[in-house]
Amino acid sequence: MPPKVEDTQGLNGTTDLPPTDEHHTKQNAWSAPGPAAFDFRSDVVTSPTASMLAAITNTTLLDDVFVEDPTTNDLEAHLASRTEHEAALFVLSGTMGNQLAIRAHLTQPPHSVLCDYRAHILEWEAGGVASLCGALVKGVVPKNGVYLTLEDIEKNVILGDEIHGAPTRLISLENTLAGTIMPLEEVKRISAFAKEHDIKLHLDGARIWEAVVAGAGSLPEYCSLFDSASLCFSKGLGAPVGSMLVGSKKLIKQARWVRKSIGGGLRQPGVVTAAARVALDETFGKGPNGEGGLLKQSHITAKKIANIWTELGGKLENPTETNMVWLNLEDAGSSGPEFLEVAKEHGLKILPGRGRLVVHYQISDEAVDRLEKVMKVLISRKGQNGQANKIRVGERAYG
Ligand SMILES: *Cc1c(COP(=O)(O)O)cnc(C)c1O
Repeated sequence: MPPKVEDTQGLNGTTDLPPTDEHHTKQNAWSAPGPAAFDFRSDVVTSPTASMLAAITNTTLLDDVFVEDPTTNDLEAHLASRTEHEAALFVLSGTMGNQLAIRAHLTQPPHSVLCDYRAHILEWEAGGVASLCGALVKGVVPKNGVYLTLEDIEKNVILGDEIHGAPTRLISLENTLAGTIMPLEEVKRISAFAKEHDIKLHLDGARIWEAVVAGAGSLPEYCSLFDSASLCFSKGLGAPVGSMLVGSKKLIKQARWVRKSIGGGLRQPGVVTAAARVALDETFGKGPNGEGGLLKQSHITAKKIANIWTELGGKLENPTETNMVWLNLEDAGSSGPEFLEVAKEHGLKILPGRGRLVVHYQISDEAVDRLEKVMKVLISRKGQNGQANKIRVGERAYG
């Protein structure tokens, strides 16, 4: 009997493996996607890969507060070039990228930021814009129900110096938002408007990779329309840590300064920037449209999941344009907790309280098969489930 090796991924309890000694590479958390293969909660669950570990082993280990680390400097220069911006700054999270950009763009109150009412900067960043900038954030409901248009912006922007207003100094757009795409043409219109009125334009592009891979426009086409953009390595791209903020030299210098002030100056970040580079090259791909990358398949899988649901008679809350599927649980007469429970019985993880499924490149075919079974259970109980899809007052589920 070979020794039982503990399955560090917690997927199958224990795994039978050949005997290990010093000359064999022991199976560890880097060997496989592990539980990520069955996890639809978010694309943040993607596991770093063996090739990232190899890059970490070979990285440089110099100080980034002194701006001396070649791996980090190269990654910054590379992203600046690929997005057609002058400069870039590696940051610890997408939230940090957004917050530094907004803090660096804005000066002093009275001022306001315009964004979609569902925006990450408004709903999911712990009120950072208020505490760091003292700015009013105005969330706008898009008239078309999917993405903001220039007309939505024109209706809500505050121009001039009328004394009751907090003038709009920054417009922040998110792409993708809820997995849906803001078309390039719309960004062009809004960008021209912002320039005309001397308003800064920021892109929360945590998932811009997905819009690009879906064919909506290239990375430079999108990013160059903004004064700054924040792009995440640790979502669908699968890096362990980090995001990149791109912008002008002046903006990035200011952002680096603000980053230091909140304790974000990094000493040997080569450990994480080496992995981020692999995530960019291998998962997104080396071309401006994600050529050679791995994200496209997750969009095909998402469409497949959406089709299974609609063919069973289910409805969708948002269109499936990239890697997210939004099941309308209320219409299916299903409660969030019930969905969670049935998914758990089938060994799948989903977020509580909502019908959002996030597909990423490590989701397995087996997970999709199990999901189909879960959907069939939910649909078969339609009408029999008295429970409303209710989240307790004051509670929310992150996603
Ligand atoms: C995930 C995400 C972020 C940043 O999240 P972190 O957890 O701080 O890395 C920012 N914006 C959007 C739209 C996101 O989806």
